[in-house]
Amino acid sequence: MHRWRFARSERPLGESFLWDPDARLGVCGDWCLGGRIEGAYLSGDRLAKHVLSRAGTPRTAKLA
Ligand SMILES: Cc1cc2nc3c(=O)[nH]c(=O)nc-3n(C[C@H](O)[C@H](O)[C@H](O)COP(=O)(O)OP(=O)(O)OC[C@H]3O[C@@H](n4cnc5c(N)ncnc54)[C@H](O)[C@@H]3O)c2cc1C
Repeated sequence: MHRWRFARSERPLGESFLWDPDARLGVCGDWCLGGRIEGAYLSGDRLAKHVLSRAGTPRTAKLA
């Protein structure tokens, strides 16, 4: 039995994330792919890659 069962989505979205191209706003989380750390990680990772792919080359931090 999982203690976090009441925190789980009954029906996950089935998509990695949602993206509004007009607002350029995305949402992600475990409710997208399933209520586990893996689902939350994959959702965030895929949205981050989507944002970076639209922004061009990722900025690199410069050390002073
Ligand atoms: C008791 C418990 C035990 C669990 N054990 C496991 C386990 O053993 N293995 C496993 O794989 N998964 C486990 N899970 C599930 C796992 O914790 C979640 O799947 C994961 O944390 C979801 O990550 P997330 O980033 O989608 O959401 P969250 O971790 O819920 O992060 C959402 C964040 O958004 C913030 N937030 C909410 N509303 C606002 C707002 N209006 N403005 C600003 N910030 C906001 C919250 O404060 C929170 O920091 C457990 C869950 C619970 C509840």
